[in-house]
Amino acid sequence: KKLGIALVGLGKYSEEELAPALQETQQCKLTAIVTGSPDKVSKWKTKYDIPDKNVYNYQNFDSIKDNPDVDIVYVVLPNSMHAEYTIRAAKAGKHVICEKPMATSVKDAEAMIKACKDAGKMLSIGYRLHFDPYNMTIAKFGKEKVHGEIKKVRAIDSQEMEAGVWRLDHKRSGGGPVMDLGVYCVQGSLYAMGMNPVSVSAKEGPKTEKEKFATVEQSMEFTLEFPNGAVANCSTSYADKGNLLRVEAAKGWYELEPAYAYKGIKGKSSIDKIEFQQVNQQAAQMDDFAGCVINKRPTRVPGEMGLRDVKILMAIYESARTGKKVPLNLG
Ligand code: NAD
Repeated sequence: KKLGIALVGLGKYSEEELAPALQETQQCKLTAIVTGSPDKVSKWKTKYDIPDKNVYNYQNFDSIKDNPDVDIVYVVLPNSMHAEYTIRAAKAGKHVICEKPMATSVKDAEAMIKACKDAGKMLSIGYRLHFDPYNMTIAKFGKEKVHGEIKKVRAIDSQEMEAGVWRLDHKRSGGGPVMDLGVYCVQGSLYAMGMNPVSVSAKEGPKTEKEKFATVEQSMEFTLEFPNGAVANCSTSYADKGNLLRVEAAKGWYELEPAYAYKGIKGKSSIDKIEFQQVNQQAAQMDDFAGCVINKRPTRVPGEMGLRDVKILMAIYESARTGKKVPLNLG
């Protein structure tokens, strides 16, 4: 039997990526939807053959506990709502996948982990690139030092953002490009290095559009320092374009550009060819988590990894605010 997934929040990512990916999964399928927009219901019901009893809103969401068609709740809401819906899902006895960034505070991320633990349920973060062969090759190079010690990482994730969206409203996003895109630079740097950083220093970029970026940063530059002395230089912006993960190792360099895309990731290297078949990252990610639930094995992208990254994101803001290097105790 395939495990049933309920998508919570039927925005762009659910509609354009996750729901279509769920048509390609082997171990799970879309069985329920949770939405605050009644106008979306009939289209989703028809398109994905979802019965009335499996349609929830944010008020009656907790009654999902009585629905055996749902094994996993996938939270795809604005960042500040991740904690509440993850905790409610765990209390309803469901396993949870929560989108990135896991939460808008360390405290929330810790509460999410505790709620899932207390309920005896698994928690995973929507880190789809851990199911992408290009990014995982970079991770393998980092972990196994295939091309020698890693000397330097450069990570860029920048995308222009339209005005008026929740991503530009600090209350709902917890921050600007750092939260949304910078998390890919953090992730990429850490798996490229194959270790956790010991400190971060950050500098916020100037606001060229003051009104648009009234409550969040427009851009950020940050540098992660690693125990071996290597650094990762990272840039993220909502008023620019860029998508890169470049690594300099003892024996040569390699890079992905674009690095964090759903499709069309390309590899280049001074050493070797980096070329793979396209995979559906989201389908692979959800199938893997379903397999983890079925076989009671740990996920490679657990809540603890999300928490680690939230700690780094918060340290980036702290450093930008104080102008000081912030030490990280991530173990
Ligand atoms: P979106 O704006 O397209 O969708 C958000 C959904 O939340 C909408 O359906 C909206 O109706 C609903 N919502 C409920 N309460 C809301 C409120 N108070 N304000 C605004 N919307 C509210 O956003 P999205 O791009 O689908 O992003 C959703 C989450 O998924 C975010 O956490 C984002 O970081 C994450 N995401 C991850 C990836 C990835 O590659 N892993 C890609 C895109 C988005």
